[in-house]
Amino acid sequence: MEKTDVIVIGAGNGGLAAAATLSMEGKDVILFEKHNIPGGCGTTFCRGRFEFEVALHQLSHMGTPEKPGPLRELFRWYGIEDKIDWVEIDSLFKVNLPDGSGVPIPADRKKAEKLLIKEFPEEKEGILKYFDIVYKFYDESEAFMEQSANSSGDPSKLQKFMVKVGFSKKFPTLATYGLRSTQEVLDELFKCEEIKLCLSAYWCFMGVPPERFPFAILAKCTHIYIEDKPFYLKGGSQVMSQALADLIVEKGNQVKYNCGVKKIIVENNKAVGVVDENGVEYRSKVVLSNISPLHTYANLLEEDQIPKEARKYFKAYTVGISALTCFIGLDCPPEEIGFTDSFNLIYDSLDANKDFMQAYELATETDPIIATCYTVDDPTISPEGTSMITAGTLKYSTEWEKLSPEQYYETKYKAANTIVDRLEKRFPGIRSHIEEIDIATPLTHMRYLNHPGGAIYGFEQDLKSAVYFFPTEEFIENLTFASGWVNVCGFGPNYIYADKIAKQIAKEV
Ligand SMILES: Cc1cc2nc3c(=O)[nH]c(=O)nc-3n(C[C@H](O)[C@H](O)[C@H](O)COP(=O)(O)OP(=O)(O)OC[C@H]3O[C@@H](n4cnc5c(N)ncnc54)[C@H](O)[C@@H]3O)c2cc1C
Repeated sequence: MEKTDVIVIGAGNGGLAAAATLSMEGKDVILFEKHNIPGGCGTTFCRGRFEFEVALHQLSHMGTPEKPGPLRELFRWYGIEDKIDWVEIDSLFKVNLPDGSGVPIPADRKKAEKLLIKEFPEEKEGILKYFDIVYKFYDESEAFMEQSANSSGDPSKLQKFMVKVGFSKKFPTLATYGLRSTQEVLDELFKCEEIKLCLSAYWCFMGVPPERFPFAILAKCTHIYIEDKPFYLKGGSQVMSQALADLIVEKGNQVKYNCGVKKIIVENNKAVGVVDENGVEYRSKVVLSNISPLHTYANLLEEDQIPKEARKYFKAYTVGISALTCFIGLDCPPEEIGFTDSFNLIYDSLDANKDFMQAYELATETDPIIATCYTVDDPTISPEGTSMITAGTLKYSTEWEKLSPEQYYETKYKAANTIVDRLEKRFPGIRSHIEEIDIATPLTHMRYLNHPGGAIYGFEQDLKSAVYFFPTEEFIENLTFASGWVNVCGFGPNYIYADKIAKQIAKEV
């Protein structure tokens, strides 16, 4: 039976970064991945002459080589920064409004303020105040996190800390806006609905509509993407995933593909190893799960080993949203159909909260469309004279899970057809240039990731879990977690969080 220091289950961003950090720290690691490639959401796949990106629209936390953000620093430490061709994107996103106009928001505070004031002169005061709040909120929140590091995660300890430091005087912006929704804050600052759509766009990165999207996360996303700039990379997220997997192997450790973990071995309420899907047993000092705590506890433990406290604890959290995505390869360059911005949010009405409700249904007539054209950032990403677009909507899995196999195929092509019809109105000619199209639904994400509901952002990132109370409590000794289910979901946050957890483990084993 093979023995190692740490077993990692899942080679998504969190699993790869954790295994890479442990490898850098000289620990023995075996990383198990059920798929035949590394990356989880961070992968690509080929159809015809196109290699499609599964997930990454924009990478956060990078910063420039001169002013590196935490993610660039991490990749520098791993020694992979220079192995990857990073592509800096100069706009945060373009919001495509129902009247057919579009507002591209620059990834620069002053430029964004200027452009928004030009578009919405009557909202000048609110625009300046908004960015002022975002920046103050970010600074105070960083200071608060640092000072409360020992208390976060435990509501009663956190409350005591807040009373002790005189929270509302010391952190006034945090106290005013910390527990409010994006919609509430924007309603307070602005009259015009269009500008609210322009500033709230990051709700789609967390999968909850503006009325449930914590302003805390909006402020953080806006600050981070402006200061550290949005990035893409040549070859797509698979290149990053592969670079991390290669590093783990170069350091003498193992990445086992096509080798899912079937069971975690628990003795005296301690995790001591795993059994893979071939029935082979491995022992370790720590087991780190990169998959959801729900799947880990419910499917990888024996029924009588599932801690009662865990069942109760996770009832407070809701499984988050999944997605329906059309991967489209076009036989023309993007400008030929008027696709000029890399990342687009497309609205057919001014009520994002109402439109979002279609996420619970199968149809795609009204929900906001998230459309990315990777060729705008990097013309070499697809064959010369072609372009690649992903266009999709956020969807919960419930209705998809009820379909028979025949209904499933019919429904997914119908949903994709509606999305293409809606794109045709914005980008005339797109339909006639489609050379390849494939579609991923919540069931696709379920099958590839093993996540309940095919959730792509872990648990709902709403006001209950936002920033302060992620489900980080552990119930079995030596079984720990690093994934988008226990922290803010997204490439950057997952890599950084997993590195932190792995460094803690490295000290202990
Ligand atoms: C369509 C889409 C768009 C997105 N856009 C962005 C974006 O622009 N920017 C951004 O920052 N984030 C984005 N995200 C979110 C981001 O991709 C995820 O937050 C992140 O990749 C999740 O990483 P993770 O570490 O939680 O692992 P996951 O990616 O969830 O991977 C888990 C891994 O575990 C493996 N696994 C499961 N069960 C087992 C088992 N029993 N044994 C072994 N292996 C197992 C799976 O095969 C998988 O490889 C997007 C996601 C999607 C799907």
